[in-house]
Amino acid sequence: MEMDGDAFDFLVIGSGSGLDVANAAANRGQSVAVVEKGPLGGTCLNRGCIPSKKLLYHAEVMETVDRADEFGIHVDVTDVEFADIVREVTDDVSASADSIRRGLRSSEQHDLLEGEGQFVDERTIEIVDGRDEGRRVGADTVLVAAGTRPAIPPIDGIEDVDSLTSKEALQLETPPEQLVIVGGGYIGAELAHFFGTFGSDVAIVGRRPHLLPQADEAVGAAFTERYADRFDVYTGYEAVAVSESDGEVTVEARPYPPAWDDADDHEDVTVTGDTLLVAAGRRPNSDLLNLEATGVETDERGFVETDEYLRTTADGIWALGDIVGEYLLKHNANHEARAVARNLFGDELEPVDYTAMPFAVFASPEVAGVGLREQDLDEESREYATRTYRYEDTARGQAMQTEGLVKVIIEPDGEILGCHIVGPEASNLIEEVVVAMKAGTGTVWDIRESVHVHPALSEVVDRAFSGQFTRRGAGAHEHQHHDHDHDHSHSDHDHD
Ligand SMILES: Cc1cc2nc3c(=O)[nH]c(=O)nc-3n(C[C@H](O)[C@H](O)[C@H](O)COP(=O)(O)OP(=O)(O)OC[C@H]3O[C@@H](n4cnc5c(N)ncnc54)[C@H](O)[C@@H]3O)c2cc1C
Repeated sequence: MEMDGDAFDFLVIGSGSGLDVANAAANRGQSVAVVEKGPLGGTCLNRGCIPSKKLLYHAEVMETVDRADEFGIHVDVTDVEFADIVREVTDDVSASADSIRRGLRSSEQHDLLEGEGQFVDERTIEIVDGRDEGRRVGADTVLVAAGTRPAIPPIDGIEDVDSLTSKEALQLETPPEQLVIVGGGYIGAELAHFFGTFGSDVAIVGRRPHLLPQADEAVGAAFTERYADRFDVYTGYEAVAVSESDGEVTVEARPYPPAWDDADDHEDVTVTGDTLLVAAGRRPNSDLLNLEATGVETDERGFVETDEYLRTTADGIWALGDIVGEYLLKHNANHEARAVARNLFGDELEPVDYTAMPFAVFASPEVAGVGLREQDLDEESREYATRTYRYEDTARGQAMQTEGLVKVIIEPDGEILGCHIVGPEASNLIEEVVVAMKAGTGTVWDIRESVHVHPALSEVVDRAFSGQFTRRGAGAHEHQHHDHDHDHSHSDHDHD
């Protein structure tokens, strides 16, 4: 190809899951350029899944110790080396990022360009900032895997107060005394659990009626109830103004959606704290890429438009992961990376199969889900059947003195539509349902006919699938449709 810089077979912007495709290209003998403006490995490794789950495991240990009394074991916690815990996690992830960097730098087939890349035309990128500033590179195939960053909602005064996003929160070396979290999604919920367990008083302001709006409503409601026992939870409230004086942050919130007639509703709330965490969704990094120089189109929220093979609207430019906006989850980005590699290097194009994409929230309680939620079915006026089984009603649940529920939603003929779990090990328990939906017959029989270990926690899933289901939907939910429709018009797939 003609250009005034280095030419490669393959170039990727973003070293998260995009790197998997770059490695697949390199393994096939292609010359590969990797453009990355931050630490190598992307959000998940550096400021997402990995550090958050490492920290949250400490909270799990602490919670076990805190609950020991209930089991007749009396323990005194004499010290928590909070700063050391956080530093160790931060050091671990930077060591992993450095090791990826060294690997790329020493590879004959990869060329690492460090700095912010922007398109100058179709398939030519210039580094506009950072170590390799000024370099221009082009490639036959370009992959846009530039991810997302925290969205800062338009709250009055937000620019003038000190606030944290999840990125900084994961590196705080002292738990705040009073933490105010704006955003009721999973990132805020996980951080609330982490800091709450280590002594912070936490308040959460979230717009939707429940925390975790991506969950089934019954699960979201159960989760919110548990959180309300631990924290000050203001769901159905929108933060509208923030201010700061003498180290105290004040968040003004009003009912959401706002009342039509009276904007100064009496029920407005004021929440104060010493630390403000904004966890109100993520925005795509597409605005940093000068996509105007290409034919790559984005939707109204900035997510890159792709077809079912993950080709963008520009020839030779592909996209994957968070910036595509299908599911903002690492296992989805990895799944899409496999699809792109297959489509680039395989014989035939294959659409990405999003069947049974699960999600999990590593808070306490844990939450996980797959497939349709009851509110989705009600919105579509579909007929379905559901069954819920409680952890407390299994032997293992009793041994653990825990509570939680598994809710199953099926077609009247037994096809699994969704499964939603709140309780210990939800992130693991969901997996057999994912396997059934994706690789089994996709019916309740996959679960029912498999023998479950007694008395393991998986019996709660088995039992949820195995008894009498209640027929629901269609006519029975006439009234609720209206509410859900209303809700939906204000929602997006932000984690709000
Ligand atoms: C606090 C937190 C916790 C999370 N926990 C989980 C979890 O438990 N499970 C889960 O599945 N997901 C979790 N996620 C989501 C997960 O991190 C993302 O879904 C995943 O990282 C997306 O991968 P990606 O490859 O699409 O993008 P990213 O990993 O974000 O990679 C994009 C890369 O592109 C780089 N980049 C962007 N623009 C440019 C540019 N112009 N030039 C050069 N480089 C650029 C960025 O620096 C970044 O490194 C979490 C996220 C957060 C924030």
